[in-house]
Amino acid sequence: MAPKIYTSQFPSVPVHDRSLFTHLFHSTPGTNNVGGYDGSLPAFVDAPTGTTITRVQLKQLALQLGAGLRAHPALNAKRGDTVLIYSANSLTWPVVLFGSVAAGLRCTLANSAYNERELAFQYTDSGARLVFTSEDGAAVVRATLKSLGLSEREADKRIIVMTNGLDWVGGPAAPIKLEVSKLVKVADLLKFGALKEEEKFDRQLANETTYLCYSSGTTGKPKGVETTHRNITSVLDMVKPAFPPLDLAVDRLIGVLPFYHIYGAIKLLHFPFTCGAPVVIMARFDPVQFCANLDRYKITVALVVPPILVVLARHPAVEQYDISSLGRICSGAAPLGAALSKQVIDRLTPKRKGQPPMIIIQGYGLTETSPTTHLVLDKDAQRKVGSAGILLPNLEARLVVDGDGDGNIDAAEGERGEIWVRGPSIMKGYLNNPTATKDSITPDGWFKTGDIAYRDSDGYYFIVDRRKELIKYKGFQVPPAELESVLLTHPDIADTAVIGVNSAREATELPRAYVVHARPDTVKTDAQKAAFAQSVKKWIEGKVARHKFLRGGVVLIDVIPKSAAGKILRRELRERAKEELAG
Ligand code: ATP
Ligand code: MG
Repeated sequence: MAPKIYTSQFPSVPVHDRSLFTHLFHSTPGTNNVGGYDGSLPAFVDAPTGTTITRVQLKQLALQLGAGLRAHPALNAKRGDTVLIYSANSLTWPVVLFGSVAAGLRCTLANSAYNERELAFQYTDSGARLVFTSEDGAAVVRATLKSLGLSEREADKRIIVMTNGLDWVGGPAAPIKLEVSKLVKVADLLKFGALKEEEKFDRQLANETTYLCYSSGTTGKPKGVETTHRNITSVLDMVKPAFPPLDLAVDRLIGVLPFYHIYGAIKLLHFPFTCGAPVVIMARFDPVQFCANLDRYKITVALVVPPILVVLARHPAVEQYDISSLGRICSGAAPLGAALSKQVIDRLTPKRKGQPPMIIIQGYGLTETSPTTHLVLDKDAQRKVGSAGILLPNLEARLVVDGDGDGNIDAAEGERGEIWVRGPSIMKGYLNNPTATKDSITPDGWFKTGDIAYRDSDGYYFIVDRRKELIKYKGFQVPPAELESVLLTHPDIADTAVIGVNSAREATELPRAYVVHARPDTVKTDAQKAAFAQSVKKWIEGKVARHKFLRGGVVLIDVIPKSAAGKILRRELRERAKEELAG
């Protein structure tokens, strides 16, 4: 049977034959314009100090940094070399990233919380040689490189420090830590002139790998994903028609998602730049700092992950600051239940006195899809709450029922299937892993997302859960994400995660919920905990179908383990459950 292919409702956008750098920073000759906007507009702002980099400064700094990477005698970087970036978010990030891109290097972005072992894996796997790191990260990088057999002298020749001081961009200076004083610093690279136009190898670069992000490692070991210049230039233009235009006089975004994850990298470092709007950069998420910065910088747009919405729904800091400027929130990377969206809207809209109500939309995508493939339109935010969006331009999708088999069977209209997508933003492949690439991309170009969804008659997709996370209770499928969103509506539950546990006796999987109590001081004794768990188990029976009852138990926990990119670390909970059930 012919596959049932869904196309985008948007007209296609042109796919470019040019490098990412040109795409971002092209100028009109004889003007001060950068990337189509006034070069004097602020591009990025450092939240703690207010230090700003304008568009024209960023272009210049990137070209200088690119020249320095090539010309610095200790570094001698060549086109196609891989550099690793290991740092919390900072104003130096866009300079380092775009400078490396300008020089035709490949950038691999590492989780800034990685330890030596984790960093060693990515450093080796990605084939990186040079490492950009913060002053804090330098010790970990040194130890990592030594653990890989390099002498201290050799190791030090591979490290470039992103210093805490911002004097090199006109911001405040800060004393440099003694341990890193001898290492090459970003500011040192700015002294070698600037790359010239012809050094951008435009056309050739289009199909080359520019980013090597790693998938989050939710389902197994993180996989290196080869993302090309064209993947990124395409996705940036594909998102635009679905994202309402930003008002450059008013709109400011908060740069709080980690830049090492493709979501933060593309949607905060690249996308707002192509729209002309500034991003205020925070090192990492902290509820109080987050609200304080929303207030101080009158932030209007926030791209977030669901755990940040949990904070906005419940944290007292929301009352301590004036965050009424925040009018639009876009959530992605993990499932967001309709109930949580509603709680945030109910809390924040009344604060917006006289302004349009708060809008919360979702986007969906994967590291492998650069990342966004679906986005909810603002106008449909309320009508389609809970949806992950409609398909972006230039993309096609299928909902496949037999993903493990031939992939010949598509779901009937409105039924569930695994999302397969095809288009210019799909990765080149997994790095050094042709088998995984072959398993995930069909010969005719369909990428298998591993996520189960259905599509309504308006073309809106609703993610049910990951194919591999579905709990199989006696032949019925139970999506943990759905149970979690129901549990989050319980007044005493602050956070939750559901996993499947094996029952040998019943020869099936059983849904088991881990829950964080909203007022932990009220459930201190074992008896109180047991009573609460029992009450939750009973409570859910009034809310869901029989096969979804929490037969695997309800367990109180202090915090749900989550990654900085907002994913529940279910593997940790599975380990824990194994111990609990064995003990
Ligand atoms: P790994 O592939 O290493 O196991 P990962 O899949 O979590 O990790 P990412 O590429 O960071 O790594 O995340 C993509 C996944 O995130 C998607 O496959 C999907 O399961 C989930 N996701 C993203 N956006 C949404 C959304 N809006 N709703 C539900 N799930 C989402
Ligand atoms: Mg994945």
